[in-house]
Amino acid sequence: MSVETAWVTTRIKQNQIDKYLENGRDFINDEAIWDRINTAGVPSAARVREILAKSLEIKTLSPGELAELIRVSDPDILEEMRAAALKIKLKVYDNRIVTFAPLYMGNYCVNNCAYCGFKYENITQKRRVLSTDEIRRETESLAGKIGHKRIVAVYGEHPLTGIDYIAGSMRTIYDVKVPLEKGFGNIRRINVNAAPMATEELKHLHDVGLGTYQVFQETYHHETYAKLHPGGTLKSDYRWRLYAMHRAMEPETGIDDVGIGVLFGLYDWRFEVMALLHHAIDLESKMGIGPHTVSFPRLEPALNAPYVFQSPYRVSDRDFLKVIMLIRLAIPYTGMIVTARETADIRREAVYYGVTQMDASSKLGIGSYSEDSETQQQDRQQFILGDTRGLDELVRDFAKAGFITSFCTAGYRCGRTGKCIMDLLRSGKEGKFCKLNAVLTFQEWLDDFATDETREIGMKVLEKEIAEIREKNPQGFRAFYGFLERVRKGERDLFL
Ligand code: SAM
Ligand code: SF4
Repeated sequence: MSVETAWVTTRIKQNQIDKYLENGRDFINDEAIWDRINTAGVPSAARVREILAKSLEIKTLSPGELAELIRVSDPDILEEMRAAALKIKLKVYDNRIVTFAPLYMGNYCVNNCAYCGFKYENITQKRRVLSTDEIRRETESLAGKIGHKRIVAVYGEHPLTGIDYIAGSMRTIYDVKVPLEKGFGNIRRINVNAAPMATEELKHLHDVGLGTYQVFQETYHHETYAKLHPGGTLKSDYRWRLYAMHRAMEPETGIDDVGIGVLFGLYDWRFEVMALLHHAIDLESKMGIGPHTVSFPRLEPALNAPYVFQSPYRVSDRDFLKVIMLIRLAIPYTGMIVTARETADIRREAVYYGVTQMDASSKLGIGSYSEDSETQQQDRQQFILGDTRGLDELVRDFAKAGFITSFCTAGYRCGRTGKCIMDLLRSGKEGKFCKLNAVLTFQEWLDDFATDETREIGMKVLEKEIAEIREKNPQGFRAFYGFLERVRKGERDLFL
């Protein structure tokens, strides 16, 4: 038996699936979901407003209510829904956009997902795992040249990138501090996108400073899932993946920020949107809190993955924006991520439908941040990017539109995670509270990394934010301003 095969046989802990099942069933009932979509009536304008009022109170919708919203096609009512989605985003997250960069650590994989360039059958893929020195160099580029504070570390599923490698790579990243003119640049939050793990392993990740743990179900439709993830591979176990977040949120792991997602384009988006809501509801009821983030990857071309072009379910731009809006309305408290898979135009628009987080300066080739390669390296990356804007350009674009880019990573370091952050989000207080840290970190980034043009535009947004804090939070202003002055003099990584 090869090392890989032996490793694969030890991965899945059946008892860590069975404990969550109800009468032997998982929480995705395909027939019931379709039945609800097909039998929901087209709601009247008054009924839509009633549902929107519930979303605006930051309450999770019921599947029946979401099914009704899915049926809406009247352009005026859709526009009312979009306006409500933006209002919710502003109520919960204010005018902040959180940025991060993906860091691909290795492209070895024991799975054979029909849509992914890393699948083991893709023999043209140049396989590589970053060494400790290479991880250090990648981090130096991200934190010292571009100015990222937050990354999502991405791993294929393979014994070479198992739990010990993941934990070790996180330690290496956190250890890097790049001296700058005024202070230092470093990565302060590592989110992890990796295969489903057992509870014991997840505790280990928490102990080395995990931010959010992300696993996307890809498709919640059982039959499609089985078709795209060949039997006999680890990933073919639908339920091991479906309950990854339940395991992560077991009290003994210490993790309470989890990210769910769907790879849009694999199956009918209406079904997937309903299923995401069922996932959030099951987490809320069994584990006490729903997802910290929902991600919206959309199928992109990948080398030697022809399924991408064959799928009958590819999602149009118009439907993609509708999907984002529906999730903002259905799970109003959650953070929402649209990555650079999408074009700059779609990403600019998506913010007005409720998106809160975006990556920038992204490179998907293993080792490509430190190699300073301008071109995308198709033979060692997972798929092709749509938005290749650098962080400086993205910050400038958003500043022109009145949004502030937040580099705040205080959350998990000062206990503002899980239930605590959810209560703040639901009450709409998080937006106000985090504004202070957003301003501090934005000032820090403008001083350390911005081009002159971006700095000038960014400072205008910053001054407006400072005036707003003075007006709305006069008691807290003095303490806040003290921190701001310390940042301006060169102190780094301060948060309230
Ligand atoms: N290997 C781990 C897993 O599958 O969970 C994590 C890393 S995987 C590289 C991260 C995500 O990339 C997957 O969950 C999937 O949603 C997404 N992905 C795979 N192929 C893609 C494609 N062709 N276009 C867009 N996203 C894709
Ligand atoms: Fe491997 Fe993840 Fe790609 Fe599937 S999506 S082939 S599990 S890296």
